[in-house]
Amino acid sequence: MSWDRDISSKNAAEIALMREAGRVNAEALAAVRELLQPGVTTADLNAAAEEILRKHGAYSPFKNYGQPPFPGSICVSINEQLVHGIPGNRKLQEGDIVSVDCGTVLEGFIGDSAFTAGVGEISPMARKLIEVTEQALYVGIAMMRTGNKTGDVSAAIQQYVEAQGFHVVREYTGHGVGRKMHEGPQVPNHGTPGTGVLLRPGMTIALEPMVLIGTHRTRVLSNQWTVVSADGSLTAHQEHSVAITEGDSLILTVP
Ligand code: MG
Ligand code: MG
Repeated sequence: MSWDRDISSKNAAEIALMREAGRVNAEALAAVRELLQPGVTTADLNAAAEEILRKHGAYSPFKNYGQPPFPGSICVSINEQLVHGIPGNRKLQEGDIVSVDCGTVLEGFIGDSAFTAGVGEISPMARKLIEVTEQALYVGIAMMRTGNKTGDVSAAIQQYVEAQGFHVVREYTGHGVGRKMHEGPQVPNHGTPGTGVLLRPGMTIALEPMVLIGTHRTRVLSNQWTVVSADGSLTAHQEHSVAITEGDSLILTVP
């Protein structure tokens, strides 16, 4: 699947609106992060995010997305679950690592962001995985400059992650974001420098490194949504929506 023909450039007013959606999204994720303790259910996390969105007159683009319709407002993916975990009765346990992906629609524009964090004490390997995934996002963002190509961003993420001994997912990618959750250009987490789409001011892109410890291979559970590592090893996911400018890129999904 490629969204590369659906690239839209945003003007300053539109980017300002996306910044507001991103701010609300960051607030929702912060509320979820505060709740990460043993015994809390993933449905509790979903409810906390929904409450913040509702307070701001916003809603989640994830709810009822796709086929079968995604039932949550956020994705909560635990341990070997990489992305698209469905909120429900599962209780968090000490030592889990939890990836939370949240989207916000506000005034017609979307913010899309994710983080991975531990519940209580986590293993040194889990901690390293989370740190590498977070750093990979910033390595990628640093390459999101006018005149670079999407392949430069992808290659930087892949090279960084693989140098740490981990793997990047192949089947799931970053993407343009704006009035729609998925626009062009597609920005994979692996690639070749100098290839792909030229980055220009006004492009807004959700960059989202997904990192696995043991393999780059994944499979989808029978609920048709949740993506897990093929070997059951731990995974992590980190995402920001970012605007390309004439200078340093602007992270939209921060407080
Ligand atoms: Mg996301
Ligand atoms: Mg995304």
